[in-house]
Amino acid sequence: MKIRSKLPDVGITIFTLMSALAAEHEAINLSQGFPDFDVDPDLLALVDKYMQSGYNQYAPMQGVPALREMIAEKTQQLYNAVYDPYAEITITSGATEALFAAISAVVHPGDEVIVIEPAFDCYVPAITLNGGVPVFVKLNFPDYHIDWDDVQAAISSKTRLIILNSPHNPTGAVLSDEDISALKRIVEDTNVLIISDEVYEHIIFDGLVHESMARHPELAQRSFVISSFGKTYHTTGWKIGYCLAPEPLSAEFQRVHQFLTFASNTPIQFAYAEFMQKKDAYLELAKFYQKKRDKFLALIETSRFKAVPCKGTYFQMLDYASISDESDIEFSKRLTIEHGVASIPPSVFYHDNEDHRVLRFCFAKKDETLERAAEKLCKI
Ligand code: PMP
Ligand code: GLN
Repeated sequence: MKIRSKLPDVGITIFTLMSALAAEHEAINLSQGFPDFDVDPDLLALVDKYMQSGYNQYAPMQGVPALREMIAEKTQQLYNAVYDPYAEITITSGATEALFAAISAVVHPGDEVIVIEPAFDCYVPAITLNGGVPVFVKLNFPDYHIDWDDVQAAISSKTRLIILNSPHNPTGAVLSDEDISALKRIVEDTNVLIISDEVYEHIIFDGLVHESMARHPELAQRSFVISSFGKTYHTTGWKIGYCLAPEPLSAEFQRVHQFLTFASNTPIQFAYAEFMQKKDAYLELAKFYQKKRDKFLALIETSRFKAVPCKGTYFQMLDYASISDESDIEFSKRLTIEHGVASIPPSVFYHDNEDHRVLRFCFAKKDETLERAAEKLCKI
């Protein structure tokens, strides 16, 4: 039997490959982005409470109302944006599902989608599966800023969507208010929609402010704002995310979501809804991760790696140009196998595998893990 692949150029994701290589060689895994520390015991107790007390059947398709209400309240407090919890907020099975649903909801065959590279790996396959055409615009190395003239030049009459991600994985760059002004000018008087991947919204450093699309009514009215509880509550394995969008966009979003997963995990939604009352858990997260970033940077200061400034996320890019002229893929493999530290080669996030001789390291780790990793990195 012959199967005609719909994604013939796609292999196993780099996260799966590098985590497997790290396990095989017992390397310290700073590749795939996930914390190695524990979840707040109160949150675990809440999941247990809801499971034990019978909240184990399907949740409403749009998500548990209590959770949607808490998200609406948080969004109003942080971004001064009003979303109707019953018509404009959908709970999803991770941000990954939300991204797929949003792309599927609006991209028709032949539509162009502007993708800023390096780009998180699930955007382009979702565009391709829907018959869309990715149009790539590269961030400018080494500070990874967006040149908005490049974005303007990439826009055509076929442009349906721009996908943005701030704080940005893998580079740690964040959108500034100048970026927002430029974006407003570009999309004004067009039918271009925006997907804003804001899963690292609470992990932003040095006093910078997260420029959520939700903050800007002119942009919010054409945006799907997507976030994930996994990053905020150290629960990447629970796979719950959400999408904020004005009513007409949310209606299209839910048309897809209801047939993609129908609904997401019930007891975990109830647990998050109650846990969200503890606002410090997200308000203090930036401080927590800034300490981790600074600790990691201090630990590797004497190494031959050069840090690329990281303004948000839990990823630090390190330039290894003074150590090796191998490609980032070759060097990351050798670093894992011979030196015992796994990382991610960012060239896999470019359609043409652009390579700047940098690697991405995840610092969402216990201090002791960072110390052990840094000791190895400093010996190279
Ligand atoms: N977008 C970005 C930029 C991410 O780093 C991740 C991390 N996994 C996701 C989306 C997906 O989030 P989730 O695990 O909630 O599906
Ligand atoms: N977002 C995480 C990262 O960038 C992991 C995503 C995944 O494994 N699919 O490392």
